[in-house]
Amino acid sequence: RAKAEGRGTFRFFQDSMDVAMQARRQLEIDLRRAVALKQFDLAYQPQVDLPSSRLLGFEALLRWRDPVRGPVSPAEFIPLAEEIGLIAPIGEWVLRTACLQAAGWPAPLSIAVNISPVQFRGNRLVAVVGAALAASGLEPSRLELEITEGALMDSSAPVLEALHALRGMGVRISMDDFGTGYSSLSYLRKFPFDKIKIDQSFVRGADADAEAGAIIRAVAALGASLGMRTVAEGVETPQQLSRIQGAGCDAVQGYLTGRPMPAADAGALARQASHPLEPAESIA
Ligand code: C2E
Ligand code: MG
Ligand code: MG
Ligand code: MG
Repeated sequence: RAKAEGRGTFRFFQDSMDVAMQARRQLEIDLRRAVALKQFDLAYQPQVDLPSSRLLGFEALLRWRDPVRGPVSPAEFIPLAEEIGLIAPIGEWVLRTACLQAAGWPAPLSIAVNISPVQFRGNRLVAVVGAALAASGLEPSRLELEITEGALMDSSAPVLEALHALRGMGVRISMDDFGTGYSSLSYLRKFPFDKIKIDQSFVRGADADAEAGAIIRAVAALGASLGMRTVAEGVETPQQLSRIQGAGCDAVQGYLTGRPMPAADAGALARQASHPLEPAESIA
């Protein structure tokens, strides 16, 4: 009996593995088709200066709407795109599209684009960024590239070279999801980032626990002393906003100050923001 049960359990795992593999294979097929049919879109989320509440610019966030699946989260399909070699063409499309949009906004509003660690392989990134800037006419100083620790982790030398070349072009570099990796602090020594984006997990905690609040204050102070601007991500409540403002962060990005929105809405906000906000309209 025990033996029979054991075999049943094994078959159960076997079946669920087949199901998982089948699901992954289907996601891969759908993702390849999405690339071919250009079923992607960008959403734009405001970044807002503190304490002035003025709009600084937007972060471009990739969206995939599959006709059958509906919207698929980037957290789900970007790792797969990286694995199967699709992140380079997708990333190139994101850069070109985001730069074209931003070129239509009043200066100096900026656009932030997420760059996958995989895009640093093959030494094409600098040329791809240069081409996106040239094609759009966007001033390089209005483009920010957001990288995570993953980009700096494996190799270093070629990645650092690319980052310095990009910075030499006038493009700004941000460290995304700061504080979630294994050695966030050591990366601040390796490269002079323009901006540190404090991960939303610390902002989430800032409401309730003293430790998260203390970490935000410390990172804001660290950024100030290193000459890097600090942005708090994922701010959802007025309480969180007042905490992070009190902590000395330079800017904020979160649902409270603006959800990711379609290009047309971002454009309207950008034009409106080129006039100073009335106090009643201001966000804080
Ligand atoms: P990220 O770069 O850290 O982007 C911030 C994520 O937090 C976005 O999720 C955004 O919608 C979400 N967010 C913003 N404010 C709030 C808030 O107040 N509350 C909560 N709960 N969430 C908030 P999204 O758009 O699902 O993107 C997830 C991740 O996927 C991004 O994290 C980024 O790592 C990656 N990603 C998105 N677009 C691209 C892209 O074009 N290229 C690459 N390589 N990665 C991308
Ligand atoms: Mg980002
Ligand atoms: Mg982030
Ligand atoms: Mg400020």
